[in-house]
Amino acid sequence: MSIENARRNSLELMRVMEDLGTAAGSGTITRAYVTARNALKQNLGLADVTAQKRAAKETLTHLREGVRAAAREAFADAWKLGAAQAEHDAAEFEIEMELPTVRERDAMLNRATELVEQETKKQTDALWLLILLGFAANARLIFGNLYLNPAPALKVAKFWGGALMNQTYDRLLVERAKQAGLRVGRMAVLGSNAHHTQTCLNVNGQIVGLDEDFVLTGTPRYAGRMRNPPFHDYCYTTVTIVRIGS
Ligand SMILES: [Zn+2]
Repeated sequence: MSIENARRNSLELMRVMEDLGTAAGSGTITRAYVTARNALKQNLGLADVTAQKRAAKETLTHLREGVRAAAREAFADAWKLGAAQAEHDAAEFEIEMELPTVRERDAMLNRATELVEQETKKQTDALWLLILLGFAANARLIFGNLYLNPAPALKVAKFWGGALMNQTYDRLLVERAKQAGLRVGRMAVLGSNAHHTQTCLNVNGQIVGLDEDFVLTGTPRYAGRMRNPPFHDYCYTTVTIVRIGS
């Protein structure tokens, strides 16, 4: 059933995104940051200033590469979830579906990956400037929590993971369903009540037309009406088509 499948996908998306990192301090992006912080401490402890800078630069570059690789992999998984959900429902609703080209898919994944990397780059660029200016020891004081903190990159990554998954389903299947003239609507499906927000509890089960937005109430939410999740930060709600009328 399409609804059960969407629910499983929502839970799977949450798992993929949590693998990037959580407040608890594990995950691929979080680990890259912890490693970089520890390495930087050692780098800046080197006696020779030139060696300090060379080592620190390497550490910061390595961090950006680590974040980029982790985000790219998670986005590929999120995209696959959306595509698999579309394929599942195409079979269930007997809709002809074509997968987009690898190039089209990669362009989307790369753009989202860049947005995550930019969050890290803002921090590494600032830190590098402080190192050049000789303020590295005060970086933590000057930047407070922004000093090599994984939270901004994680927030952006989790937004785009949900957006990619839902947009892929929308693009591959919902548009086809419309072209085929099926009597279907779009339903918002919450993966798990254990990870709910008031917004997603309220919208869970809401059915709208193929061209209509979901009406959102409660908090937190980005807007009062939205076509697709994510509806708020760290949102893993999914959408599925369902039969309507008789
Ligand atoms: Zn949500």
